[in-house]
Amino acid sequence: MSAKKAKDDATMATATESAPDAHHTRHNLFDVVTQQLARGAAAINLDPDINTIVSQPKNELIIHFPVRLKSGEVRMFKGYRVQHNNILGPYKGGIRYHQDVYLDECKALASWMTWKCALAGLPYGGGKGGVKFNPKDYSHEDLERITRRFTHALGNNIGPEYDIPAPDMGTNSQTMDWMMDTYVNINAAVDRQAVKRVVTGKSIACGGSQGRDGATGQGVVYCIQEWAHSKRFTLDGSTLAVQGFGNVGSHTARILSRMGVTLTAVGDHTGYYYNAEGFNPHKLAEHNKKNHSLDGYPGGRRISREEFFALEVDILVPAALELQIGLDEAKEIRAKVVVEGANGPTDLDGDRVLAERGIDVIPDILANSGGVIVSYFEWLQNKRSESWDADEVQQRLERKMRRNYQSVMDKARDLKCDARTASYAIALERLREVYRARGIWP
Ligand code: NAD
Repeated sequence: MSAKKAKDDATMATATESAPDAHHTRHNLFDVVTQQLARGAAAINLDPDINTIVSQPKNELIIHFPVRLKSGEVRMFKGYRVQHNNILGPYKGGIRYHQDVYLDECKALASWMTWKCALAGLPYGGGKGGVKFNPKDYSHEDLERITRRFTHALGNNIGPEYDIPAPDMGTNSQTMDWMMDTYVNINAAVDRQAVKRVVTGKSIACGGSQGRDGATGQGVVYCIQEWAHSKRFTLDGSTLAVQGFGNVGSHTARILSRMGVTLTAVGDHTGYYYNAEGFNPHKLAEHNKKNHSLDGYPGGRRISREEFFALEVDILVPAALELQIGLDEAKEIRAKVVVEGANGPTDLDGDRVLAERGIDVIPDILANSGGVIVSYFEWLQNKRSESWDADEVQQRLERKMRRNYQSVMDKARDLKCDARTASYAIALERLREVYRARGIWP
């Protein structure tokens, strides 16, 4: 992309709050979470007052901040942080760098974090934020400048017992290390060690946890194993399609390959690719790391997005963006199970059609909760000055994921509802108990 276009993207940040592209415009993302929430609330007969409170975020912050780039040029950026609910604990949720970040997306993603943390039994609320720009257009040095300036602008709107960011699309452990370092340095010297847990998803050297990088994919895999066990389905010899081959998608595919699952189709922002013999997900990940996309990977052939969703595979893992499975895709999907690695990949029509067609959906707030669970482990280790080994992290994650999966399926059976509604029901019951006990003051 040209410097001019990149500049337009960053500067244009102020121009629109509407949804950015064709897939996003099918439904407003916040409407999706609102309707999902309404179903969960109805299933447990939620008190109307509590429903009113949890239907909107507590705080919505939009910040315009200047950055002097390495070239000397000053450019304005637009950053967001939405804090949805903190009745169960500090706000918790990722920071996204993407040219399409917009307010209603952050509101929806923050709301999902509230339900995800409550469902997982973590002492956290929900938050989400981002900066509206395409990180692929900026150098390492400029990404550091943007991250540090954004963290400085957020100031005390984040904090280790208040609001704890983590990586999301377009950000990684390096971004978190810069955020942590900037935050630490704007705090008093005596507090600097104590406030390092202001972000999770840091590199191991900077206080990150073993297993955080692959945690979301690992959690997705535990859900797939539980699903397979309940359906008496044999994973060995089965097939997989993954949309998005970043953190979540690539770890999911790599872990599943060790169980004999063949990755026959994969897609990213450059297109979709098919190989009947199966891709080697480890080699694919290496190629992706080197080239920042799947484009040019030898082996396999290009297919269209439509062909990708209509493929005959056993397991489909959307692990890219939200609102990818709408009416059209849901009608064509032939997988036995859709496991939502991404947040909000299925819209309301998509959900309805998949249910009508008897295709199982393991909902995002359950399926991709492994990341925030290990983020919680990281935060706990930092707080206690501990460092757990990889096996300990993995065992704790596994126990939690399998238990949470079973509680969702038990709840779905009790309430005679789908897994998504059951997940909301459990999360809302947890919040309801606290709201009823504490009341609203003054
Ligand atoms: P990432 O940036 O590492 O990877 C994103 C992938 O999606 C890339 O392969 C990219 O090419 C692809 N992609 C982007 N635009 C696309 C498009 N238009 N069509 C097809 N593919 C496209 O991001 P990630 O961390 O793996 O996150 C992916 C999803 O999982 C997001 O919805 C995120 O919110 C969710 N999630 C991530 C974590 C985590 O721990 N990283 C945890 C929970 C949920």
